Amino acid sequence: MAATGKDIDQAAAILQMGGLVAIPTETVYGLAANAFDGEAVVKIFAAKNRPAFDPLITHVADTDQLAPLVSHMPAAARQLMQAFWPGPLTLVLPKTHLMNDLVTSGLPTAAFRQPRHPLLQQLLSILDFPLVAPSANPFGYVSPTTPQHVEAQLGDKIDYILDGGPCQIGVESTIVGFEGEQPVVLRLGGLPVEDIEQVAGAVKVKPHSTSRPQAPGMLESHYAPQACRVVVGDLAHLIKKYRQHKIGILSFSRKYPDYPNFVLSERGDLNEAASRLFSALRWFDRQQLAYLLAEPVPDTGLGRAINDRLRRAAT
Ligand code: AMP
Ligand code: MG
Repeated sequence: MAATGKDIDQAAAILQMGGLVAIPTETVYGLAANAFDGEAVVKIFAAKNRPAFDPLITHVADTDQLAPLVSHMPAAARQLMQAFWPGPLTLVLPKTHLMNDLVTSGLPTAAFRQPRHPLLQQLLSILDFPLVAPSANPFGYVSPTTPQHVEAQLGDKIDYILDGGPCQIGVESTIVGFEGEQPVVLRLGGLPVEDIEQVAGAVKVKPHSTSRPQAPGMLESHYAPQACRVVVGDLAHLIKKYRQHKIGILSFSRKYPDYPNFVLSERGDLNEAASRLFSALRWFDRQQLAYLLAEPVPDTGLGRAINDRLRRAAT
């Protein structure tokens, strides 16, 4: 068991000594360490069983802390930061020598975000280093959106869980990189592409599962429940096809009372649906099903990130 509480001084003391702390963010819970402490960073990879080629996101208190870590700031990056930081937007930028190669898996770029969760902002403001934090789950499994999720999966591997309540957004941050000066969406997430386009104009969306094309498809099966197979498609059709088996239904707004069923948002709200998605996948994991049948949600706003996670869970 990890100690759990709201004590930012205790969290800060552990991080200063090179320990690991689970932190609340507005997207999902992170597993944090001092970005400048190589030994602490290595502990994250070990605790998560995460391959060393999968780089981490660095969480900064503000743009002043970011400045010395970045060697070139495209104009569009500055605009996006002004519009959406603090918030669920990660920017991949050319790094300076201050960024540890362990954090970036040896890449010349690093991923940065200023998070919006008030408790994490307080923590960052009393530390004199940024925090690297991937999602606080074993590699390849569903990201945690409550302190209880973290405890259940990693409780024996971390020193403290900072309890910031359930995550407001519930899917990971949107990641934007740059091709020259042009922003490119690398991962769909908690900031809708439409919002980005209002600030930066039309952007390319090139979702990837890892920054390293050398790791072909290895990360595709991300976000998957462990105990059943996920199939995504039209529910009426899928129910006909799989009804001989023990099935569960993940639906957007309609109820399916004849089956174990989780409705993402009865009022058809994509933001509510996103915030409940990972809890839903965990719930199905406990239902002893052969197949989880899921329908895509409308492909706008946070719906795009939800559909991306469903597609990956189904791989
Ligand atoms: P997470 O597991 O949610 O912390 O997300 C980390 C992800 O950020 C990685 O799996 C990469 O997809 C992405 N990422 C981090 N650093 C970079 C980078 N330098 N270039 C491209 N993508 C990156
Ligand atoms: Mg993750």
